[in-house]
Amino acid sequence: MSIHDDIERVLIDTPTLHQRIATLGAQITSDYHGEPVTLVGVLKGAVLFVADLARAIDAPVALDFMAVSSYGNTMQSQGRVRILKDLDDPIAGKHVLVVEDIIDTGLTLNNLLQLLRQRQPASVRVCALLDKAKTQMRADYTGFTIEDAFVVGYGLDYAQQYRNLPYIGVLKPHVYHGA
Ligand code: 5GP
Repeated sequence: MSIHDDIERVLIDTPTLHQRIATLGAQITSDYHGEPVTLVGVLKGAVLFVADLARAIDAPVALDFMAVSSYGNTMQSQGRVRILKDLDDPIAGKHVLVVEDIIDTGLTLNNLLQLLRQRQPASVRVCALLDKAKTQMRADYTGFTIEDAFVVGYGLDYAQQYRNLPYIGVLKPHVYHGA
């Protein structure tokens, strides 16, 4: 029994992920002109992404993390966001790049950005690995625009599982239907 057996199809394979992240890193490196940037990883989904993205950026990078409530064990958005873990350090006067796993309704990001802007950073931008393109909201940097399917892997979970898959995939329906 392998976790790979629960995957119906691979949406984005490992080499494609790494290639795109290298490109994003180069773009971010060029855009910040050597200015220090604080990467704010949104826990837990963005952990794998932020780890790889940080290594693809050639600029002084600080890492901080925030945890907000997300889908839990269900596949429906809760319709609101709760801060579970705040940043360790102040961001006033700093260039902040929020690193998100996926934009679905965009609600999580919207709330997070409002909160971060109140702290008067020098700038706030967003880098999202995936975007389901369901809202008007766009990240400053987007890895991949994907279809509206529930995806797992490379940090994204179902019931806290599958985050360690090295690719983005779609689960077999029997996994969440409990068959
Ligand atoms: P939004 O607020 O944009 O609707 O949802 C954002 C959060 O919901 C993401 O950060 C992620 O944790 C979760 N989410 C949204 N779509 C998916 C998905 O397809 N798969 C998984 N595993 N989580 C998702």
